[in-house]
Parts: sequence; structure tokens; C-alpha cells
Amino acid sequence: MSEVRVRFPPSPTGYLHIGGARTAIYNWLFARKHGGKLVLRIEDTDAERSTEESIKGIIEGLEWLGVDWDEGPYFQSAFAAEHVAAAEKLLAAGHAYKCFCTKEELEARREAAAAAKADYRYNGACRELSPEEVAAKEAAGLPAVIRFKVPQGEGGVAFNDVVYGGVERNYRDIEDFVIVRSNGLPLYLLCNVVDDIRDRISHVIRGQDGLVNTPRQILLYRALGTTPPTFAHMPLTLDLKKAKISKRSHGEIVAVQFYRDHGFLPWALVNFLVLLGWSAGDDREIFSKEELIEAFTLEGVNRANSIFNYRKDDPKFFTDPKAININAHYLRTIPVAELAQRVRPVLEKEGLWDPAYEGEKQEWFHKTLEMSRERFHTLTDFATLGRAWFADDFSMDETALQKNLLKHPQMKEWLPQLAQRFAALPEITHDEAERVAREFAEEHGVKPGVPINAARAVITGQNKGPSMFEVFAHLDREKVVQRLREAGKYFEGQS
Ligand code: GLU
Repeated sequence: MSEVRVRFPPSPTGYLHIGGARTAIYNWLFARKHGGKLVLRIEDTDAERSTEESIKGIIEGLEWLGVDWDEGPYFQSAFAAEHVAAAEKLLAAGHAYKCFCTKEELEARREAAAAAKADYRYNGACRELSPEEVAAKEAAGLPAVIRFKVPQGEGGVAFNDVVYGGVERNYRDIEDFVIVRSNGLPLYLLCNVVDDIRDRISHVIRGQDGLVNTPRQILLYRALGTTPPTFAHMPLTLDLKKAKISKRSHGEIVAVQFYRDHGFLPWALVNFLVLLGWSAGDDREIFSKEELIEAFTLEGVNRANSIFNYRKDDPKFFTDPKAININAHYLRTIPVAELAQRVRPVLEKEGLWDPAYEGEKQEWFHKTLEMSRERFHTLTDFATLGRAWFADDFSMDETALQKNLLKHPQMKEWLPQLAQRFAALPEITHDEAERVAREFAEEHGVKPGVPINAARAVITGQNKGPSMFEVFAHLDREKVVQRLREAGKYFEGQS
């Protein structure tokens, strides 16, 4: 294969969408695998819809994901003169022509076609205007668009898409499409090709929605005297009802930023997105960066649309459960020092961060993360479900309150008594905590789980979690004692 050069050319008209991110990731993997280059090109020709905020969001999103590019960002708008020059070259070479048909004329023909139940295509009225006729119309100040002259007669455009296979489109089904508007602005279809030629793109890896443009773009490449790149179109991502995922119908869960804000590890999102439409051909689902680069091929991309399994009405999952599970996997397995770095901003945001967690309390902090991550799914969980490790003002889980505490009214007295026993220990170790708790239960004639789970509720606010003996030993002794001592407050107002 000659030099691999791929590109990610987002239109900056919104946030980085997970579908766009997936396309970027596929391009990135392909470039990395083949020692090629990834070009980031911001396609901002639509000045009205492009925003600075969107450009910033896209770049930040890619950086957060760890998708690094080798060239750019280039801005399409900076090459406007080249786009115009290309249109003029096509005009001069007889591959394009000026069209003076008015809106009204086009509309009337479109309506006539509709009335006759025929497909509408531009009828080529201006295709054969003589140079004199063109000059006369221009002299009269009539506005003109530039149209591409699609070859006539039999035959068509055929190409081999790496994912979709052989694609063919007859010339007679392609109308003479507009490449420059009457205001002189070249159309996106042309700009995209001109830029891909300049950027020496070898493979166009893009969403399946680009497939409708490809035959026309291939005609442009040929007319501009270049060989078209290899095309590979990625399947669509649909929801469970087979509708395209979009912000309008699915809300923020389609934005990469949503995952960052909801405690995803960037690599977990990359890993999840890659699997939306690609497989290694075996049953592997978890890949390190190196493994993924090694395993990724365009041939492994599925032709079938991929399904984003999101049930809006299931409050248990805020996005595709598979994404959450993959995130939980990484949360539980990455080195704890790396996890600590990821948790820090989450705690900072909630006012729970203590700089000592990177100093004299680092060991404690890391152990806390290790103990609690087994049940967590997102980084955010450390600040919500795990809040009691870092603050005294945590809220109590409803099940923990009802089942572990209020169901056993005697705990109102027992837990303060247990506090006394812990207070009397020179140090709370795991084994000492176990001995004290078991003895306490035995004396009161209940199973050890009863006081232990009640203690879990008042100490951690949760009804599940790591071994309570470890918790007793790991949390500050004063906090253990104080929370048990104050257990009575949960019973106030209860009958
Ligand atoms: N700017 C286009 C988009 O965001 C890129 C299409 C392409 O990859 O050719 O959809």
C-alpha cells in the first residue's frame, strides 16, 4: 500500500457526536495501523452554521478521547480560492457549464415531473449554450450557477467500497449537479474533493450517509485529472427502534461530552464506540490501544447498521448498558494511580478534594479507590455513592435506611454502644473490627449481619459495598465512632 493518508473532516455545526467520533476513531486506527497520517480538517465552508464553540468542542472531544492527528487542523474556509480555481478549471476544460435557469423555471419543471410521476432531474437546458449566448446572458446581468457536465449516454460510475462492495450508478441517474452557487460560493461536494486531493488522501473513511455523494465526487476527481481515493463507508448507528440516533430524539447521550461529564474513562468510550460496527472476528470485546491498532481492519467493519441499545424508559441505565459495563471494566482494572488522576477532577468539582490525597494521604486515597471501585460504574460514583469517604454530609440510600436501619429499631441504642467498643480500641484493624462486631452480635442474640449492615448504612450511606471490617479499619477512627454514635438521628420522627 502506498502512503496511507486519511482525514477526519467534521462540519463544526454542533458538538462532537458519538457517530462522528466513531468515524474519527476508525480513521485514526487505520492511520496508526499502517504508519500513515491522519489529517484533521474543519469543514467550515457553511459560515452561517459553523461556530467557534463547535470547533473548540470537537477539538477538545478528540483530545479527550486520545485520538491524535498528524496534520491540521486545517480550515476549509482558508482554501476558498482553490475551490473557485477548481471550478474554473472544470469550466475551462468543458467539464462544467454556466446555467442561467431561474428558480421559477426549475420549480415549474419539478412540478411538471411530479405531476407526471416522473423523477426530476435537471434537463440540461443550459448545457449546450454557445459562448455567445453565455456572454449575452452575462452582459444582461443574469445570475448563473455552475453545473458539472455529467457524461451522457450508457455507462455509469462504478467503484468498490471496502465495506459495501461494488456500487454502480448510471450516468442517466445523475443530474448535472451544481458546483458553484450564483453568489460565487463553491458547493461542499466540490470543496471536499478539492481538499482531499490537496491533502493527498488515500482512503476516505466516512459515514454511510456519504455514500450518496460518492459517484458524483468520483466524477469530479476524474474531471480534475486525479485518481479517486479508496472509499470505505461506515454503517449507520440506529436505536432499538431502528431510528438514526440524534440529539433531537435522544438528547445529550449522543454527544461525546456527555460521557466525559458522566464519568467515563476516555478509552472505555473509544473501546465501546469501536465495537459499534466493527469486530475483530472473534469474541474479544476489551482491547488495549495496541491490541486495537493491531486488530483493526476496514474489512472487519460490518455492513449491517449497528444498534445503540439505549432505553430511555429504563432509569437503571443512562446510556447503552454495554458502554457502562465497558467503563466499569476499565474503572476496576486500570492502575490505581491513573484512576486517582481521573477521580481528582470529579472530587474537585464537588468540593471533596483534599490536596493531601496527592501527599501524605495518598496511600489512604489509593486504598479507598481500590476498595470502592469494585461496585462502581463511572467516575462520578466516587463522588456520589462514595461520598461518605470524603465528607460527612452524605445522603442515605433509601434501601439502606429502610431495610438495614429503620427495620431494626433497637439499632438506635445498639449502634452508639458499638461506637463505645470501637472507641475503646487502641486501633481499629480488620481483625479487631471483626471480633468486636461478631461479639456484639452474639451478645445481643442476632446474626452478625444485622449490626454490620446497620453500621454500613450510617457509616457509608449505602446498603452494599466493600467488606465492612475493611471499612471500619480504613475510615478515620473518629468518623467511624462519630457516625455510629449519631445513629439515633435517623430514627427521629419515626414511630
Ligand atoms: N464534513 C462532512 C461531515 O461532517 C464530512 C463528510 C466526508 O467525510 O466526506 O459530514
